[in-house]
Amino acid sequence: MKYELPQLEYNYDALEPYIDAKTMEIHHAKHHQAYIDKLNAVLEKYPNLQDKKLEELIKDLPNSVMDENDKKTIHNNGGGHLNHSFFWQIMGTKKEVDEALFEEIKATFGSQEEFKKIFTNTAATHFGSGWAWLVRDEQNKLQIYSLPNHDFPYLKGHQPIIVLDLWEHAYYLKYQNRRAEYIENWWNVLKLL
Ligand code: MN
Repeated sequence: MKYELPQLEYNYDALEPYIDAKTMEIHHAKHHQAYIDKLNAVLEKYPNLQDKKLEELIKDLPNSVMDENDKKTIHNNGGGHLNHSFFWQIMGTKKEVDEALFEEIKATFGSQEEFKKIFTNTAATHFGSGWAWLVRDEQNKLQIYSLPNHDFPYLKGHQPIIVLDLWEHAYYLKYQNRRAEYIENWWNVLKLL
């Protein structure tokens, strides 16, 4: 089985003016596709692993006897594929507010504003490439944190709920060094809240 680029539920220009069409096209058709291509290429060497759930495969890599470079390639590109696939889904042109999540966020963080403040600050202060996450931890509690590169919450046994791409390729064409402005504008295209 080969991994394939998931189709977006919206056009590249749908998230304008917050995320521009050119960024979306390059991000999806080039960056995401490249992660998938590299993942598929390395997995050709391991036919017995191709049917394993990708999250599990990546989580189990430290215990695997596989070549160390191949492990790195699978970790980075498999994580890139999973994270981007999730990121596309939580954005959209229409709000689909999850009321239960909304209530839980208020109960956990005090208010939606406070939640946004903490998440925004976590994203803005992340150093280098990575992703900001809202997750459900093993105790079923909401947590906000950022992870480097293409690491993901499954590695900690957490379920992702909201994610924001902090790699420069996600915003540089439109925002250049203004990451804070990208983060602020991104709330407009997040479907869930
Ligand atoms: Mn990205």
